[in-house]
Amino acid sequence: MPLVIDTLGACLDDNYQIALYCENYRSGVSCGFVKWLDLEKLVARLGRDHSSMRDDLLPHLWCPKCGSGKVSIRLHPPTGDDRDSSASQQAAMKRGNP
Ligand SMILES: [Zn+2]
Repeated sequence: MPLVIDTLGACLDDNYQIALYCENYRSGVSCGFVKWLDLEKLVARLGRDHSSMRDDLLPHLWCPKCGSGKVSIRLHPPTGDDRDSSASQQAAMKRGNP
């Protein structure tokens, strides 16, 4: 498992998810569109080695609802895997008991 999730291929392999948020405001009302990106489609379009960094992805993304390119993304680690949380709990216990 790569330590740094910096390509679309790494995101896909490690079951990361990318959420797309529309930041477009029209007459003071936000569009508010949110969706999970289809990583497999994104990889098919941009390639596995394409960067998953915000600045590299945003030029390729837009809001399907209002058509605005004013969107942001957030990378979400895989859910349903509790190994990480138990590890951090152990670390917290160690910190609490020097
Ligand atoms: Zn929108």
